[in-house]
Amino acid sequence: MDYLKAQERVEELKRLIKENNEAYYVNDSPNITDFEYDEMFRELKRIEEEFPLLRTADSPTQKVGDKILTEFKEHTHKYRLYSLDNSNNYDDLRKWYERIKKEYPQEQEINLVVELKIDGLSCALTYENGILKIGATRGNGIVGEIITENIKSIKGIPQKLSKPLNIDIRGEVYMPVTSFERLNEENREKGLKEFANPRNAAAGSLRQLDSGITAQRDLHFFAYTLISEDKSLFSSHHEALDILKELGFNVNPNYSLVKGINPVIKKCEYWETERFNLDYATDGMVVKIDDIYKQNELGYTSRAPKWATAFKFPPEEVWTKLEDIEISVGKTGAVTPIAVLTPVQLAGTIVKRASLHNFDEIERLGINIGNEVLIKKAAEIIPKVIRKRENEDKGVFLAPGVCKFCGSNLVKPEGEAILYCPNTTNCPAQIKGRIIYWASKEAMDIDGVGESLVEKLYEAKLIEDFADLYKLTVQDLMKLDLIKEKSSDNIYNAIQSSKNPTMTRFLTALSIKLIGKETADLIANEFSDLESIMNADIDSLVKIDGIGDKAAKSIVEFFQSDYNRKILQKLKDYGVNPKGSSVVKESDIFAGKTFVITGTLSKPRQFFEEKIKKHGGKVSSSVSKKTSYVLLGENPGSKFDKASSLGVIILNERDFEKLLQGNE
Ligand code: AMP
Ligand code: ZN
Repeated sequence: MDYLKAQERVEELKRLIKENNEAYYVNDSPNITDFEYDEMFRELKRIEEEFPLLRTADSPTQKVGDKILTEFKEHTHKYRLYSLDNSNNYDDLRKWYERIKKEYPQEQEINLVVELKIDGLSCALTYENGILKIGATRGNGIVGEIITENIKSIKGIPQKLSKPLNIDIRGEVYMPVTSFERLNEENREKGLKEFANPRNAAAGSLRQLDSGITAQRDLHFFAYTLISEDKSLFSSHHEALDILKELGFNVNPNYSLVKGINPVIKKCEYWETERFNLDYATDGMVVKIDDIYKQNELGYTSRAPKWATAFKFPPEEVWTKLEDIEISVGKTGAVTPIAVLTPVQLAGTIVKRASLHNFDEIERLGINIGNEVLIKKAAEIIPKVIRKRENEDKGVFLAPGVCKFCGSNLVKPEGEAILYCPNTTNCPAQIKGRIIYWASKEAMDIDGVGESLVEKLYEAKLIEDFADLYKLTVQDLMKLDLIKEKSSDNIYNAIQSSKNPTMTRFLTALSIKLIGKETADLIANEFSDLESIMNADIDSLVKIDGIGDKAAKSIVEFFQSDYNRKILQKLKDYGVNPKGSSVVKESDIFAGKTFVITGTLSKPRQFFEEKIKKHGGKVSSSVSKKTSYVLLGENPGSKFDKASSLGVIILNERDFEKLLQGNE
């Protein structure tokens, strides 16, 4: 690159980064992904290194870019908050380590702490005599905003320490992914703005002028730095983390003290995929020199410590082209659009398809075939489409009018976002969908009966519905050319041995609209045999905690249908009989009581569920006004918060055992 070209590009990058700083920090709504931002940042740094004359003081590489929101009082940090240098490859990580090792030639390997880089907002807390005096945002690293009142409602931050210390704390405020999703759902229902990601939701919640609103949001804190004038308090980073825990802070448990860079890289590789199992967003790993004395020797650049660096994970979000929208019709007739994408690499896998949920979602996103779309790795396996490029208008993809599998006019029930093919009894897509689902792991779990076998059986007219699976003979199966599937004998045996499922599996497998495994479980707990479920009316169903009007109506309609009655009769004739409730009652002390279990208990949840049922109680999966008790384990989820807000009685394991005493 020549100097003039470099100058042009530097100006452009500076402008782009500044614009995005604004969108990100001030408006809490970024236009580009973090990965793209980091790429621009690294490119700018690279050019500036090559052409040092282009590096100006106002360059984003020279400072920690936030702008201050004016509504909050400014606060000059006693100790500056630095940013972190970062890289996205292991070579750079090794180079960083080699540079440091050169400073300490007498040492074999250097002690490092590697921790998760939490994707939230960094905050500075000041304690005087053990009392929280100031909580502030990072701001530009030198001056931040005072948000002490808001900080006080955050979980993981003590207002009073277990010792009267004068210390400063750095840590990350974040919102759990599940809470973020719930908040967006609530906002969507209320017609309010949705947040782009958990970090923006945390930022939006933290920067509320009304601290009452902040308190309603599920914000948490992980402390990662302890600063004290008293140099005798600790001499290494891992000791500081121990003290933070003792003082009452939440410290992220997923850190390791290691020697040298190789184990650091192992940890990075491990967390690159494992992080999707955490309920908080992480965007990388942070590596820190453990020895505080060395940290001080190595010091800082104008924006970041030299004794620490970050490894950024590959992007969780990526832009690609929407090449087509495929329409599928599911087992209950629901018509779902699926995005077909130009294949792209996303967080370690190649992605070709993404979920679009329904046609309301397509309209909300304003997308059509040909748009560039941002896709994101979600908790589910199939990623989802987040948004299209701003101002890229290709019109909106229209929902089809008829089912492409059976030609029926599609319908959209009042108050629902989903479009349905109403042809329950004759639409081949629905029928095949129900047979595939019947045999699936979640339902009857029949090994060897999957999509391709069902397709062949149905096309050969050997089966018309899932009940027909049980009339198949080995000879029938041998007529098909089974290449991918297991042997006919095995398939036959797998089908035959599925004849006595639990009631929950059986009900789930029927593909009743709105009735998944959890609801099926609630029904199975309430009735002792299939006959009484088939004859239940809406009133008796809605009395069950966790079953609403719509689900109750769907169940009643399902069992009233002649078509379904015929299938159920066939199942009975073929000897398919769900097991009734297997719990033997021991007492009635929990009669009329509904329990919700949350957190980790000393034994598997099932153990407690069975105990509750044995003593006449019910177990529900979500907290509502009908919940009598919450049985609370360690690290409870959001159910605990909901229970607290509803004033439900909380029992720990000991309380629970006490209630049972004398009845077992
Ligand atoms: P960046 O925003 O990419 O410059 O990265 C620096 C930021 O990472 C810090 O300001 C912190 O907000 C954040 N961070 C998250 N987790 C950690 C951690 N474990 N140690 C240090 N910083 C962290
Ligand atoms: Zn159809």
